[in-house]
Amino acid sequence: MSAQKTSTAERTRAASTTASVIELSDVEFGYTSTPVVEDISIQIDPGEYVAVVGPNGSGKSTLMRLMLGLVRPDDGVATLFGEPAHKFDDGSRIGYVAQHASASKEMPITVREVVKMGRFPHVGYGRLSSEDWAIVDGALDTVGMTAFADRRVTQLSGGQRQRAFIARALASEADLLVLDEPTVGVDIESVGAFYELLDSLNRGGITVLLIEHDLSAVTEHAERVICLNREVYFDGPTGKFVESDALARAFGTAANLLGESR
Ligand code: ADP
Repeated sequence: MSAQKTSTAERTRAASTTASVIELSDVEFGYTSTPVVEDISIQIDPGEYVAVVGPNGSGKSTLMRLMLGLVRPDDGVATLFGEPAHKFDDGSRIGYVAQHASASKEMPITVREVVKMGRFPHVGYGRLSSEDWAIVDGALDTVGMTAFADRRVTQLSGGQRQRAFIARALASEADLLVLDEPTVGVDIESVGAFYELLDSLNRGGITVLLIEHDLSAVTEHAERVICLNREVYFDGPTGKFVESDALARAFGTAANLLGESR
């Protein structure tokens, strides 16, 4: 739809003129006096597609919280769109897609109502203009959910529900899409299409930050991998990650690379 195309083009232009989306410099953080992540220096630029991998408990979610300013570093500096991350308050620029499991707690509202929420940061408590509705419809169209617009989100498959949440992020005209294991619980047939959607949004200029346990999805789709286990074991192009021994070092075994168990 034209409204969506326009906003994507604007986003690409805006992205090319801004500094880093996320920057962490020498960051250390712990919930107690023991750090759970340390020595973290990462810069993510507009338009990148970055996956964060690492064993359970390695600090992936904590890293995401630091990046989004939900927790503050004990040491070092975290910036989001050039501002101290904890002070950043333009929620419309960030689309967050959680695990499918947590979506089940969503209220029983329709897909269109979910996507409409993406416009709230722009219109406040005011009514949506016809332009806002065109953006909502465009977002539904982009994720292939137009036919399900009036269905309740509780009546969708996992993959459809995740598309609805991506559409909400598109409607808010987010520049950064953060996804925390988005395909957990999503039926296997829908996973490929879900990642193709992410790929095409990224080609349109959206920065994608993906926490993902499915390493084959990561190696197929992300262009950069950050491999974490308390510290950064690897940060670089996906092709180099596959050739490196970072995964074996971070996990303590290479057995999980292709989803095998020991
Ligand atoms: P991952 O996402 O890689 O599984 P987390 O960032 O969730 O890792 O956790 C890293 C470490 O921090 C773990 O040891 C976990 O137990 C601990 N942790 C996570 N959240 C909290 C919290 N809210 N309070 C205390 N400890 C936490």
